[in-house]
Amino acid sequence: QVKRSGKNAFRFFDPTLNAHHHERITLENDLRNALLRGEFELHYQPQVSVARRQIVGMEALLRWRHPVLGALSPNTFIQVAEELGMIGEISRWVMEEACTQLAQWRSAGHLELRMSVNLSPLDFDKRDIVSSITECLARHALPPGQIELEITESLMMNDTADVATKVRELRSAGLSVAIDDFGTGYSALAYLQKFPVSTLKIDRSFVRDLDGPSINPIISAITGIARGFALDIVAEGVEQPEQAEALQLLGCDVMQGYWFARPAPAHEALEWLAQPAR
Ligand code: C2E
Ligand code: CA
Ligand code: CA
Ligand code: CA
Repeated sequence: QVKRSGKNAFRFFDPTLNAHHHERITLENDLRNALLRGEFELHYQPQVSVARRQIVGMEALLRWRHPVLGALSPNTFIQVAEELGMIGEISRWVMEEACTQLAQWRSAGHLELRMSVNLSPLDFDKRDIVSSITECLARHALPPGQIELEITESLMMNDTADVATKVRELRSAGLSVAIDDFGTGYSALAYLQKFPVSTLKIDRSFVRDLDGPSINPIISAITGIARGFALDIVAEGVEQPEQAEALQLLGCDVMQGYWFARPAPAHEALEWLAQPAR
């Protein structure tokens, strides 16, 4: 069974950015240097197949070890990076690092393992987003089908034609595309017709409310939509065994959450790969 990592004590400092102007300024300057100084790292959280009770993928989650403030959550700095126009550089680093890691795990024999990478909506403003991603995969000799890009509903709300083209190109190149936090945006479900995504990720706010065998109407609706569009369903934020059981009954394909493992550095994640999941 996957070890629930007690030693992964990665505690986030929260500078509550909007309230503290000075900290915000510091953060901006430091962010510019963070890539150069090698302060970013990726942690990995396993995604477990419901049917096989086995790790089938890892989600790469960005961490920033700030020299003074300590560990910073992406929730505190991704938005700043987007505002500063730095997110493209960061996303490129994340993609490169995630691909390097997946290639390493593959050479350790984990040939079926998939990797999920989070993208910012702003990444889709870049003309060469598709080629820079496919080139990265090629450079690491990775099968595109084993990379999943996680995007959010907000991406599909504006400038749809251009974004839809890029999503279609990524899918044609063989990559999977997941809609993260599904159901929390202003979903106009019509976009599912236009954007050929492969996966819906049920937001953890819905999973949190699952505490028994009773049917949850939102999750049933989401799984119904997913079935209608032939999409895979990943449930995130699974913290309790009762939630895992309920999600299995509701027809989820893959689960992710603290119940299986917290995000952890690559060497710890490699240990999980050697064990069957819960
Ligand atoms: P997300 O993509 O929805 O990622 C899931 C978040 O939930 C992660 O927080 C993860 O650590 C946390 N989580 C996982 N399992 C559980 C659980 O069972 N219970 C609870 N309460 N939380 C759980 P994290 O790592 O702090 O990331 C926060 C957000 O930052 C992510 O949300 C994602 O939107 C963004 N992010 C993370 N890495 C990247 C990245 O490389 N690029 C971009 N653009 N955004 C990123
Ligand atoms: Ca995600
Ligand atoms: Ca999510
Ligand atoms: Ca989220």
